[in-house]
Amino acid sequence: MTPMMKQYHEAKAACGDALLLFRMGDFYELFFDDAKQAARVLGLTLTSRDKDSANPTAMAGFPYHQLDQYLCKLIQAGFRAAVCEQVEDPKQAKGLVKREITRLVSAGTLTDDGLLDPREANYLAAVVIHTPRKGSKVIGEPMAGIAWAELSSGRFCAGTFPVSRIEDELARIGPAEVIYREDDASFSPDTTAPWSWTARPAWSFAEDTSRESLCKQFSVGSLEGFGFRDDDVAAVRAAGAALTYLQETQPGGLDHFRSIAAHHRSGVLEIDASTRRSLEITRTLRTSAREGSLVDAIDLTCTPAGSRWLADWIAAPLIEIPRIEERHDAIGEFVAEAALRSELRSTLKQTFDVTRLLARIATGRTGPRDLQQVARTLAGLPELKAKLQNRKPRRLAVIESHLHLCPDLLQTLQSALADECPLNAADGNFIRPGFDEQLDELRELAAGGKQWIAQYQQRQMDQTGIPNLKVGYNKVFGYYLEVTNAHKDRIPQDFIRKQTLKNCERYITPELKEYEEKVLAADEQASSREQSLFAELRNLTHQHLAVLQEVANAMAELDVLAALAEVAAQRNWVRPSMTEDSVLRIEAGRHPVLDLTLPQGEFVPNDCVHSPETGMILLITGPNMAGKSTYIRQVALITLLAQAGSFVPAQSATIGIADRVFARVGASDELSRGQSTFMVEMVETARILNTATSRSLVILDEIGRGTSTYDGLSLAWAITEHLHEQIGCRTMFATHYHELTQLQESLPRVANLNVAVKEWNDEVVFLHRIVPGGADKSYGIHVARLAGVPGEVNERAKDVLAQLELDHRDALDRPTISPPRGHQKSGGNYQLTLFGFADHPVLSQIQRLDLDKITPIDALQFLQRAQQEL
Ligand code: ADP
Repeated sequence: MTPMMKQYHEAKAACGDALLLFRMGDFYELFFDDAKQAARVLGLTLTSRDKDSANPTAMAGFPYHQLDQYLCKLIQAGFRAAVCEQVEDPKQAKGLVKREITRLVSAGTLTDDGLLDPREANYLAAVVIHTPRKGSKVIGEPMAGIAWAELSSGRFCAGTFPVSRIEDELARIGPAEVIYREDDASFSPDTTAPWSWTARPAWSFAEDTSRESLCKQFSVGSLEGFGFRDDDVAAVRAAGAALTYLQETQPGGLDHFRSIAAHHRSGVLEIDASTRRSLEITRTLRTSAREGSLVDAIDLTCTPAGSRWLADWIAAPLIEIPRIEERHDAIGEFVAEAALRSELRSTLKQTFDVTRLLARIATGRTGPRDLQQVARTLAGLPELKAKLQNRKPRRLAVIESHLHLCPDLLQTLQSALADECPLNAADGNFIRPGFDEQLDELRELAAGGKQWIAQYQQRQMDQTGIPNLKVGYNKVFGYYLEVTNAHKDRIPQDFIRKQTLKNCERYITPELKEYEEKVLAADEQASSREQSLFAELRNLTHQHLAVLQEVANAMAELDVLAALAEVAAQRNWVRPSMTEDSVLRIEAGRHPVLDLTLPQGEFVPNDCVHSPETGMILLITGPNMAGKSTYIRQVALITLLAQAGSFVPAQSATIGIADRVFARVGASDELSRGQSTFMVEMVETARILNTATSRSLVILDEIGRGTSTYDGLSLAWAITEHLHEQIGCRTMFATHYHELTQLQESLPRVANLNVAVKEWNDEVVFLHRIVPGGADKSYGIHVARLAGVPGEVNERAKDVLAQLELDHRDALDRPTISPPRGHQKSGGNYQLTLFGFADHPVLSQIQRLDLDKITPIDALQFLQRAQQEL
């Protein structure tokens, strides 16, 4: 094995199952199986290294400057990749160039701008199931520990949750990658989830190791200060595993992880995974795209950090009124002061994503342009700070106090960095002239030398009379004089021949060499001086990490508050009034997304009142496409927005704090997950019935659609009764079962609503207006026509409907339907029955059996006859 391949194998052994990208000169190369996989995923040509050997090594590679692009593809395809760099200058290396793994990249550990969507957080999550034990004895229920960390910002949280909540919590976090214990029989990853799973060794989840590495990272003796309680072992184990993983992937350091927040669910509105999907909070149901979601519709932030901050707020609305109202107060101030708002927003637009810049500084991957962006952002702070001075709303005061101006850092960076800075320090020429005397001198020397060389060329041309003599430079010979063969005879004595090419020869002279040394030395010294100045600037910025993180967070929050005020001002949203009572009073409410996408003025606003006096359960009947789903979703979204601290799309709103919101809407998205629609619907309904409290808000859309009419109706009926009698929470139930409207008569807190429809010349117009009372008619046939179902089918359907309505006495009756007009063959009537075989003669024979008298033999014989008849 060559020394280089030995080096390769050592690196490969250190990077686990990640693909190893091995830097060789200007290329990254992959070998063996890695090469085959990469060739397939990246479309690279598969070659081999030692073609003539019996067992050639598979190899594939790409030019170094395409690294980001290829990494991105690998990550998207679910791979992890290790980048092994040459860590010394090949020119200076004695023997084999030293190489080291400098980065391990996976979906959850990205920090590179090129690979990240700036508007979205990129979390790594860790999950572990912890069973409390004393010795070998189990002393408590298993609990799930979940930690989530964002490498590109340094955010780090962990919490202990019931095992049943793993899916919901992960859905709230929305990680890119989740790590779990490789040999854990009690946990199996859901491979249909939209994130990648990475198995990790059990030791990295161990309690002791976890505590130790967390304490070391944060330089503390105990984790209590972060809010962890004694029984938060699960959380600590998950956090430790996440940290270990991050440390492994970031040899450059993790200094921006300065603390961890213990997550306790109590302060947050609970929203389960399917409710999140149903309400399309961050992604739409059908396309899973951000476009069309609630977050997208209200995101008028001016900075990527603001965008991420907003998504956090919407994903985890609050339940404590004072905290909610603090946000409302701040938004109110910005709504009232339009000029202030627009000035703040235009200043924010000039700032850079400091959170992510800091992460690059902390992980040792920063360049001059990053530092320049820190400086430019700092330069905007005095203006922001001045505008926030003496504002009454508490959040604004807090933000103002967190905008640390860091004047010394700003001054140093501004005077050090040139106007145009390169991305990488290696590119040089980014320190401003005048900042460092030594650097200026070296630069002058180098520049002077170059000038001397130009003059030297001219002088030699004049002296020798060779018109096309020129001075060139290459790495092997340094500076040389080049003379074409045509002028060979004019070459003077003191030219020393170094190289013969096809058409010319190259020479050096002692004089040229002397200057060459000076120039090169000065150039080299200048560039190393520049690098050490850069290191100083980076360290200086690094020392400000903590304050700069606070600044970045304050700017993000300011951006969100100003953006929500902008939304409120542009779209006439109002400040909701919050109360602890379990009520909801929305006047002229609108759907926050539809209101935006429909042409102006087309959206029909609707009221909604939930109160013990007027009804806690609202049953909304009405034709398909009338606007039932839109209405009930809009109420849930308004509640969610209000609790997230935003104003709401309504004329006025009083929102009683909800502790949980449940939405059971349409099941079509679940089909791909391999469960039947009805099963999914019932699992979710069961969860609502088991976990909703009197303070929850439940919206149900067409429950029972996945089964036969009578099954569905009976279930819907019983579910409504249970919600009314046992739970008593605010409920909105959209249904096409008109029969349910009868519930209002027996249940005092049920109120019927329906969607107004105008009939005109056989045409039906949906007014999308919610009015009291139950609907008395379904307009499915009308909708079918709109959808393009052929005319004859519609005509026949109308016929059948008319007869059904004629015969319809009660829900469980068996209406009789005559055959279609002109239908010759069938003489008799069809029977619509509860079961397909209800009228079979065998049934009546079974009914007539006297089971007390029949002998086993007779019974068997009966069965045999019955079987033959069927
Ligand atoms: P349903 O649940 O009754 O079948 P939807 O709520 O899905 O009906 O609404 C059907 C369509 O009607 C929506 O896509 C929307 O275009 C329109 N719509 C619903 N509510 C309104 C409204 N309040 N104002 C204007 N258009 C509406």
